[in-house]
Amino acid sequence: MNPYQTRNIRTLINAKGPATRLSGGIMRPEVTAAMAEAARHCVDMAELQAHASAVIARETGAEAGYVASGAAACLLLATAACVAGLEPSKMARLPDTSGMRNEVIMVRSQRNFYDHAVRAAGVKLVEVGLPDRYAGAGVRDAEAWEIADAITERTAAVFYVADCFARPSLTEVVAVAHAAGIPVIVDAAAQLPPQANLRRFIAEGADLVAFSGGKALGGPQATGILCGKRDLIMSAALQHLDLDIFWEQWSPPPSLIDKGRLKGVPQHGIGRTCKVGKEGIIGLLTALELFVAEGDAARHRRWLGAMQALAANLENLPGARISLAGADSVEETPTLDLILGKDAKLTALELVIALQNGSPAIQADPTFCDRGIVGFNPICLQDGEAEIVARAVRLALS
Ligand SMILES: *Cc1c(COP(=O)(O)O)cnc(C)c1O
Repeated sequence: MNPYQTRNIRTLINAKGPATRLSGGIMRPEVTAAMAEAARHCVDMAELQAHASAVIARETGAEAGYVASGAAACLLLATAACVAGLEPSKMARLPDTSGMRNEVIMVRSQRNFYDHAVRAAGVKLVEVGLPDRYAGAGVRDAEAWEIADAITERTAAVFYVADCFARPSLTEVVAVAHAAGIPVIVDAAAQLPPQANLRRFIAEGADLVAFSGGKALGGPQATGILCGKRDLIMSAALQHLDLDIFWEQWSPPPSLIDKGRLKGVPQHGIGRTCKVGKEGIIGLLTALELFVAEGDAARHRRWLGAMQALAANLENLPGARISLAGADSVEETPTLDLILGKDAKLTALELVIALQNGSPAIQADPTFCDRGIVGFNPICLQDGEAEIVARAVRLALS
């Protein structure tokens, strides 16, 4: 019996992908084994984070890296780093940012639920641009000059949410921000795969980039990677680590924290709430190394296999057709859409709910159910589950 069965908690088949609401994804046995072994020893957390920094730097091309309890946690740390720099007194005051650089510029069309993590550092978001493209007739979104125009002496950072549809391009945003000496923070939480994105945003000039550890990377659900400029990562570390220690006693690894540049030991910072355990850090680093070693092509083949198994079992359903996306490019995640016609027995949302209430419970993606589409994603499916999902869908629709 697994621990959920012992506690009478039902497990589910996750065909939606690594959503936090559904407990994220499945970790490989190598990852869980490393975590179990890590849990049996104690270490100095600053030394462990300095090692993580070196691994993350190697895999991302950034100067330094850090691990916190999710990409959202990393965004809070990133913002706090841009606001407080290396000033312990500023760190101690957050989220009270009065008198500090406390505005973060963001393109209006990129606003999203996760930017709460940025606001949580005590900054005000300054929105620029008009998402004119939304109207259908419009062709434009925010432009780089609008970001440049919004920069003032109160600007702490420009915040950019990476996505293939994001406008203006990151390169243009970096150019105007850096011309004014302002750092750029990139939310790349869900931008893996392709693997090349581990390096891409840093290569395009971002000062700090956040990735989720618990999405396609396959690490612990409550981990995230922050990578970027050495000074900013040092500030993030100082606002996250437990620093309940005497100055004389404190000898942090200089590669992560250069003690000589500090007036004193900061108090517990705003990031103390984003604590990550040693097991989480080891699990994340193991997952990151496995992700890189597997490569896009093998990963894509594995995921495509699951979607093809599902597709093969969903053909010729009355009132429905299927559409496989992302099959041709190893840079994309293959997904399957089930498109329900007017004469289908259930609407898309009704089917999602029927699957969720079935036994075993199955979670599909309802994002486009208003267009009659039920989505299926392979990332969290285990061997043999695609066939179970297909059977449940057939049953519900017949
Ligand atoms: C998932 C996600 C986050 C949050 O990541 P966590 O690792 O769950 O904290 C932030 N931003 C975007 C765009 C995301 O998709």
